[in-house]
Amino acid sequence: MNLRIDRIFFCAAHYLRGHGKCGRVHGHTYAIRDLKVFGNVGENGMIVDFGELKAVIKHHFDHKLIVPKEDEKKWRKALKDLDLPLDIVAIDGQPTAENIAKEIYKLLREYYPDCYFTFALYEGPNEGVYIG
Ligand SMILES: [Zn+2]
Repeated sequence: MNLRIDRIFFCAAHYLRGHGKCGRVHGHTYAIRDLKVFGNVGENGMIVDFGELKAVIKHHFDHKLIVPKEDEKKWRKALKDLDLPLDIVAIDGQPTAENIAKEIYKLLREYYPDCYFTFALYEGPNEGVYIG
């Protein structure tokens, strides 16, 4: 059996080193679209709890700065020096939609190891990647 969540939104900032326009720090309202969760129905009658799954994603990504792992230390120091909250997500590679989608997939598999997922991650209304 599978369940489907049409859209989950989160806001985050990122940048792509070496990329012209996207080399600047900027933000997106990311949309996870058409999330399908494949798994067995548990004793509670659910494959997963919709609200919990949304909260997991929001907790890890909403209103965060997504940076490549190699930049994490510098950002933490800069944000500490500026006395700003340290809401950073450090990921493998450039924080492209592709790599952010991989991080979300990894996160979901950590929280729900008995489930598998497919979804699209959109950075804007028209551009997205599919995973799973
Ligand atoms: Zn961007």
